[in-house]
Amino acid sequence: MAVPKRKTSPSKRGMRRSHDTLKVQAFQECSNCGELKRPHNLCPACGHYNGREIVAVGA
Ligand SMILES: [Zn+2]
Repeated sequence: MAVPKRKTSPSKRGMRRSHDTLKVQAFQECSNCGELKRPHNLCPACGHYNGREIVAVGA
């Protein structure tokens, strides 16, 4: 079995992991409050989904 000759240095490991992050790219405006939210998800700002308040947020 092929085996790495050297331990991967913290620097090289970090360079590899620099591409591992996941980015959220899809956003829509909430139809109730206008905040940006993810499609098909409850609005975190006002708790609305599909025109109804599902979860009470804040006071
Ligand atoms: Zn909202």
